[in-house]
Amino acid sequence: MKKNRVSVLALVAAMMVLLSILPLRATNEVINYTDINKIKTEGMQRSQVMELSSWLSDVYAPRLMGSPMYTKAADWAIAKMKEWGLVNVKAEPWVNRNGFDRGWTNDKYYMEVVSPEPFPIPGTPTAWTPGTNGLVRGEAVLVTATTLEDLAAYKGKLKGKWILTQAVPDVAAYWTVISKRYTLDELAAMEFNPAPGLEFGVTPPGQRAGAPIIAAPAAPAPQAKPAAAPAAAQQPAQKPQAQPQPAAPAAGQRGGFGAANARNEFFRAEGVLGTLSTAPRGHGIYTIGGNRAADPATTLPAVVIPAEQYGRIGRMLAKKVPVTIEADIKSTYYPNPQVFNVVGELPGTDKADEIVMLGGHLDSWHAATGAADDGCGVTAMMEAMRILKATGVKLRRTVRIGLWGAEEQGLIGSREYVAAHFAGRQAPAAPAAGAPPAAGAPPAAAGQRGGGFGGPLGPLEFKPEYDKLSAYYNIDNGTGAIRGIYLQGNDAAGPIFREWIEPLRGMGVTTVTIRNTGGTDHQSFDGVGLPGFQFIQDETEYNAIIHHTNLDTYERLQPNDMMKDATIAAVFAYLTANREDKIPRKPLPIQGQRGR
Ligand SMILES: [Zn+2]
Repeated sequence: MKKNRVSVLALVAAMMVLLSILPLRATNEVINYTDINKIKTEGMQRSQVMELSSWLSDVYAPRLMGSPMYTKAADWAIAKMKEWGLVNVKAEPWVNRNGFDRGWTNDKYYMEVVSPEPFPIPGTPTAWTPGTNGLVRGEAVLVTATTLEDLAAYKGKLKGKWILTQAVPDVAAYWTVISKRYTLDELAAMEFNPAPGLEFGVTPPGQRAGAPIIAAPAAPAPQAKPAAAPAAAQQPAQKPQAQPQPAAPAAGQRGGFGAANARNEFFRAEGVLGTLSTAPRGHGIYTIGGNRAADPATTLPAVVIPAEQYGRIGRMLAKKVPVTIEADIKSTYYPNPQVFNVVGELPGTDKADEIVMLGGHLDSWHAATGAADDGCGVTAMMEAMRILKATGVKLRRTVRIGLWGAEEQGLIGSREYVAAHFAGRQAPAAPAAGAPPAAGAPPAAAGQRGGGFGGPLGPLEFKPEYDKLSAYYNIDNGTGAIRGIYLQGNDAAGPIFREWIEPLRGMGVTTVTIRNTGGTDHQSFDGVGLPGFQFIQDETEYNAIIHHTNLDTYERLQPNDMMKDATIAAVFAYLTANREDKIPRKPLPIQGQRGR
């Protein structure tokens, strides 16, 4: 008898496990397979996504916000979408309340070691840094001192020199495979083993897209740091976003702008030619960034070069072998640039006043062509719009595309769009200069510059369209195939998406996870309580060698993955547009909590 009871209990336990892993079937979603097949056929057999990607990453690149090429890329996207028959296609300016004072381009870069043995130095000037005064030559000197006390030893010795600003880094071999797809086990772990604390859609600082999530508090935790904590400490780092960085940070230096600025100011006062820095990943790869708020009048020429050339120069200097570098760098500033996003629509029918949005960011960093970050998000979403138009499938709601500017400087374009159309926050009044911050005051000062994901922290102000948006879908995790979707803690959307991915399982889409992912424009929607989602994408080589590096080019795009991504985005837009109800929403973000 006892044995039987044990086996009954075991059976019940097994059934409970089985029930918990079976897809939930609660919402009875209507899926028109005829239309889905039309979309899949157009997307997978008549795809234009790679041709679009070539235009955007070969011809209209790089697309640093505020540069003339950003505008040319926008003009191209607008013309293309008009050609397809989209409506209301336009550049939509945003209010420049973020201190985006100047655009910048690097127009010429030449750098070479000329003695003792000539060799070229590939590299990229840090954004918003000035060029050289024509062709200049100077000896290289390695200065790792970071404090003004230590730098004092160099006083009077640096005039006309190129400064190597950090120790020569060690470059490890690639011992592990750098390109990977999610295994089914890994995807299952995302779905069935979410770390606790996800239900409020808060991605803790330090989380990267797709990484396991650390428990987040359900309510705002008491501020561990004083309210006047340095801005750098408030910026989450879900993905290795190039936040405005000092022109030439010392290796491992995390002192923020203050220390690096003081160091650069010392170099400038000493009359150096410029600074060189590198990234420890080696293999010819380096990442780029820049500080849009840097004052051109007090900024030095700064160049990022590969670890290999940096190391060769540094090791020769260590042997007391003098190294002379020649350079000619020309860069241009563009005061008061136009700041805008690009939008376009496919009009709906009986629910045309309600909206489904697709998007990615049009701007890019400049060491390469931004093919994957986020050219491929832009072209996949443009292609999704083309597919929906070309198939002629009926759309009850209006489908709108948003191509965002200045994502790389802190999601500015999407955040300003959301503020203008749906809901935004007014910055609270800044404390008077010198006054101690009020206890518990939001850390971001009004009008604070320098980017970051934060934005203002004041109360939400709602716009009429707030009630009209069903959902926003974003692609900005590189070229990898879509394998599912992050719910951003929105439990109610889970059963819907689980039914929707049924026709996509054969394309590898299997997973709906309660986890959230961060670091890009869906956060601008999610942060004000709107359903903003990003897809789970295969990693491919994205974080290893592509993201913000000099290798982010067309060659790194995977055509089959791109075709899938556009098709899947089109299916999600189609199903969202035609669903009887809008996608359910999470509870509103807690007052004063930064939208992430
Ligand atoms: Zn991006």
